[in-house]
Amino acid sequence: MELHQLTIHELQEKIKEGKTSAEQIAESVFQRIDAVEKRVHSYIRLMKDEAMAVADKADKDIKKGDIKALTGIPIALKDIVCTKGISTTCGSHILHNFVPPYDATVVEKLRDAGAVFVGKANMDEFAMGSSTETSYFGPTRNPWDLERIPGGSSGGSATAVAADECIASIGSDTGGSIRQPAALCGIVGLKPTYGRVSRFGLVAFASSLDQIGPFTKDVEDCAIMMNVLAGYDPRESTSVRAEIPDYRQFVGHDIKGWKVGIPKEYFVEGIDPEVNSAIQKTITVLEKSGAKIVEISLPHTQYCLAVYYIIAPAEASSNLARYDGVKYGFRSPDSGDLLDMYKKTRMQGFGAEVKRRIMIGTYALSAGYYDAYYKKASQVRSLIKRDFEEAWKKCDVILTPTTPTPAFKIGEKTDNPLQMYLSDVFTISSNLAGIPGISVPCGFTSDGLPIGVQFLAGHFEEGKLIQIASAYEKNAKIEKRRPKL
Ligand code: GLN
Repeated sequence: MELHQLTIHELQEKIKEGKTSAEQIAESVFQRIDAVEKRVHSYIRLMKDEAMAVADKADKDIKKGDIKALTGIPIALKDIVCTKGISTTCGSHILHNFVPPYDATVVEKLRDAGAVFVGKANMDEFAMGSSTETSYFGPTRNPWDLERIPGGSSGGSATAVAADECIASIGSDTGGSIRQPAALCGIVGLKPTYGRVSRFGLVAFASSLDQIGPFTKDVEDCAIMMNVLAGYDPRESTSVRAEIPDYRQFVGHDIKGWKVGIPKEYFVEGIDPEVNSAIQKTITVLEKSGAKIVEISLPHTQYCLAVYYIIAPAEASSNLARYDGVKYGFRSPDSGDLLDMYKKTRMQGFGAEVKRRIMIGTYALSAGYYDAYYKKASQVRSLIKRDFEEAWKKCDVILTPTTPTPAFKIGEKTDNPLQMYLSDVFTISSNLAGIPGISVPCGFTSDGLPIGVQFLAGHFEEGKLIQIASAYEKNAKIEKRRPKL
């Protein structure tokens, strides 16, 4: 195996044994990028010079015996997290030239842990999308089939890991944008509990739903990343002061006697038969591992998409009001007075999907409609949250497919936003309820496309997710395949 194909923990072993260096690892990753990036387009911007300098410093630290959680590990960042002095575009024309004056908290934490940043990964514009096709910089392609989408909105971050163009990466998840692309690219993706990871320096989409999390090649790496990312941040008012376990301690344990809830509302018509059969096999593996399967009900599931598509656009319309041609990034060059400048900047700076969301959100929040839409949606959101609270009385974790179908073709759903929105039908509920969710590979379709299973747990129970995902990963023995690029 080549260095870029290894996991964080495998590379750490090699580093500790003196069998490789941070510089060799970084070189291997950039060679891989040279070989495949033209075909997949995971990155908006590469950071090779910075990366090689950090790798050099890492090797000096390693010589001194100073090895931290991610020393010398190449990591990609979704281009939605602010990086001081390095452009942060959010996949949008309106921010194509925006250079943040500060780092996001997660960027600071990763840097302090010794990570080597490879580049800024491609994404749907302002994280609005499920396919990475709304990026101003053009789509990312699924490494398992270049005609297909990698999922979104963190499609660049997922592809970079799946195509071995980095060892792990950072994404953000507002309605499924970590778990859905993880499933479609055959890797592990975790959305933490709302408040577990600081959003300071994350460009806001829908602030009550957004959460940052990792993409990794296996579950142990996910635990390693969470150890670095999780934690209270005094600069972020929704981050929570709660105890943080060592997530690695949950790796490699059994799940005997655990109750795994299967919500009947999630197994309805419209699930691809091959996805369904992979999920049924997953359930069998868990039973053989000593878990007890219980049927549960999440009765308000049918309202999740509708609630999300009021709340997310409403919050987005408010958050995106700040892009006015004055404070950040792009300003229309051919405008007259101030009002004209605002209008032209926003007309030329935003893409179609972002404009669609701003219009829906502005409408839902407008006087006379607020009670009927945003307020109503918030009330139903409480019911959705309550469904989960009831469910935890019957089970420890919940299992669902991550996505209803495997990766679809590029262009297949771009003209039909409602079809596109359905990609997240299984992932959105956990953002509305604020609970954590993980997607783990659980097989392949007959065409060789990856399939993912999702586990959900109660607030701050990421440890449980890591434990069951790790037990499943070990016992399922899913064939190790790599995309042929
Ligand atoms: N696909 C969903 C949307 O477009 C979720 C995106 C996300 O999680 N950022 O809103």
